[in-house]
Amino acid sequence: MMEHAQKASRFIENESRTDWHDASLWFIRTKRDRVAHNIPEWEQLRELASQIKDNVLANLDAYLEQFEAQALKNGVKVHWAADAEAHNRIVHDILAGHGVRRLVKSKSMLTEECHLNEYLSRQGIEVVDTDLGERIIQLREEPPSHIVMPAIHLKKEEIGELFYEKLHTEKGATDPAYLTEAARRHLREKFVGADAAITGVNFAVAETGGVVVCTNEGNADMGVHLAPLQIHCMGIEKIIPRAADLGVFTRLLARSATGQPVTIYTSHYHRPGPGREMHIVIVDNGRSAQLGRPDFRNSLKCIRCGACMNTCPVYRRSGGHSYGYTIPGPIGSILTPGIDLKKYGDLPFASSLCGSCSDVCPVRIDIHQQLYRWRQVVVKEGGLPLVKRLVLNGAAWMLSRPAVYGFFGKLMRKAMRRLPRRFLYNRFNEWGKGRELPEPPRQSFNEWHKQNRSRS
Ligand code: SF4
Repeated sequence: MMEHAQKASRFIENESRTDWHDASLWFIRTKRDRVAHNIPEWEQLRELASQIKDNVLANLDAYLEQFEAQALKNGVKVHWAADAEAHNRIVHDILAGHGVRRLVKSKSMLTEECHLNEYLSRQGIEVVDTDLGERIIQLREEPPSHIVMPAIHLKKEEIGELFYEKLHTEKGATDPAYLTEAARRHLREKFVGADAAITGVNFAVAETGGVVVCTNEGNADMGVHLAPLQIHCMGIEKIIPRAADLGVFTRLLARSATGQPVTIYTSHYHRPGPGREMHIVIVDNGRSAQLGRPDFRNSLKCIRCGACMNTCPVYRRSGGHSYGYTIPGPIGSILTPGIDLKKYGDLPFASSLCGSCSDVCPVRIDIHQQLYRWRQVVVKEGGLPLVKRLVLNGAAWMLSRPAVYGFFGKLMRKAMRRLPRRFLYNRFNEWGKGRELPEPPRQSFNEWHKQNRSRS
């Protein structure tokens, strides 16, 4: 398994892409700041959202049962899936029962997490992602690199080439309006020909048994309204107690995600239309295990806005694919170790721990503190690579002995001034590959202080 650092090093090989990726996400972060600052009660909203989610997590079983009972009353068929495999099997059984061959899907990170597309394709069902960004990466046969902007790592020139190859647009076309129009024509055909539609779920309201889906392209609505069969797939943590709570979350979600005051389409689905069927698949897939970890349970408050990614200096300069999981960035790095500590144990270290993620999170998840706690778990479980372990043990030994620290400090300052550059910047110095040490001072602070303290 390739580690985050190795994958990130591939991403940063292309310096201009890295700069551009960094700047694009930072632009969205600043947009988010502007719209958030326009709302005087922004911090109270965040606090309220966090408290509502605390209540949900503390009473999740009761809210899920209430949600199911209401949905059943509305004429919806409700299914429970313990894991990804069960989720895929349930969805396939529903589709097979209706003889579905062509399916349209609006963006759903849960179905990405469960690898539903691959599963259904193997069963001979055509799955078309209808969110423009999702369709782009589906045509490129790669995973999303961001949870809100799945193709943010691509330039319009690359999309032009892809569309020329797959959708037969003009060669060399890069005009976004032209390319979007081509995608629109292509997707219209898929919508009209679909036998069923799947959507993700942003919020599931326990009080009403309805689900709420937020999109900017209206693709969830188009799919659901045209197809005779609709399926909504949701993680157990998507529950909110009351319809009255929705406004708190929708105000926070759009602003945090893209800096928009509202998401263009906020669609509510409560019951099937006449002669149609509506199914909801409720999925656990490791979430109740996370609920059982007191130090990490509030990661389940996440409303998948992506703000922590947009602000993270590591994510912005390493790209979403370097995390190797459907949900990248800071939130991905606290969800994944709970799924497989061995496989994802390096991700909590892919952070500067600057805390910017926690500052922007609309539901106030203490992301950087959880990253730090996961690091402690990884160390305790012996998951730290040998070199890192030796270096940290050596540093701990030296830092707890002031005389030794002083001696090595002096030695290193001299070495940095006198030895040839290759002594410090060589293949053994991974840190120095992309960074420069500052000019070393002539004396340590302690030496300076001893000399100067009589003056003060
Ligand atoms: S952790 Fe917070 S900031 Fe990150 S995606 Fe989830 S809700 Fe948004």
